[in-house]
Amino acid sequence: VVHWPFSATQRRKLNWVQLAGHKGNFRAADEGNILKKFSENEKQCFEKLRDDVLLPFVPSFHGVVEKDGESFLHMTDLLSNFDLPNVMDCKMGVRTYLEEELVRARERPKQREDLYRKMVEVDSEGPTPQEHSQRGVTKPRYMQWRESMSSTNTLGFRIEGIKKSDGTCRTDFKKTQSKQDVVQVFKDFVGGNPDILKSYLSRLKEIQQALKTSEFFKQHEVIGSSLLFIHDHKSNAQVWIIDFGKTTALPEDQTLNHDIPWQEGNREDGYLWGLQNLLDTLKSVSNE
Ligand code: ATP
Ligand code: MG
Ligand code: MG
Repeated sequence: VVHWPFSATQRRKLNWVQLAGHKGNFRAADEGNILKKFSENEKQCFEKLRDDVLLPFVPSFHGVVEKDGESFLHMTDLLSNFDLPNVMDCKMGVRTYLEEELVRARERPKQREDLYRKMVEVDSEGPTPQEHSQRGVTKPRYMQWRESMSSTNTLGFRIEGIKKSDGTCRTDFKKTQSKQDVVQVFKDFVGGNPDILKSYLSRLKEIQQALKTSEFFKQHEVIGSSLLFIHDHKSNAQVWIIDFGKTTALPEDQTLNHDIPWQEGNREDGYLWGLQNLLDTLKSVSNE
């Protein structure tokens, strides 16, 4: 573990945008890098990715550092090469919780009032009569509800948030579900620029190819991971695979297909199915 010697500069803080997760999970670092709150699981993923074909598509990992008594993962800031970037976080897969979370909630259900309130905020008829009377829902129940409201179940991905170069930021996509709605959001995001669309499409196809040959991908249940889309007015456009906090290794003798329906026990995540739908969605944006 290296102790962190640098202090953050104000300029980089202003440039930084975080579209998901707790605000306290990230810190500014040295030029071109960021710090993400340490997780053993995510660290292990980054280490395994060092020898995998997915390496060119994930932020470079520079090890674990300590700052203010806390541990962080030191990695490349994907926004640093952009001038006023537009950024979109797309959470991949047909489900957003691990099978083990489901089992735990069944064995020891913990009713969460914070999640109950979040549910009511979006849809007062979301909770069942029983959930209303206990003013609580379990975490998997909340996540399954989020999946059914959004395009996670129907398309295998969902939009988590978008920040545009004009400074506007939206994370209110909880009810963006139909393909038509998703197409509109993408269209607005790329501002109808065909060059950006083309770059995004070709980068996504490269990612698709790499995933199909990746040993890491075969051997992991990939839950809650996102594709981060970034472009700017110079038509630089990139897509990166981020967030391995819930990407979990399978037992030695098991591999996943990533393209077949999930049934509890098979651990399938629908990642490749979602990616094909994402490609088709972007193609419809180009054709409109
Ligand atoms: P959650 O699990 O709720 O999605 P998290 O704490 O695991 O959140 P991430 O999803 O990894 O955090 O990242 C949250 C946001 O921070 C992303 O949506 C993106 O906007 C930004 N971000 C994460 N990693 C990078 C990076 N390497 N470069 C630039 N931006 C990043
Ligand atoms: Mg995330
Ligand atoms: Mg995460």
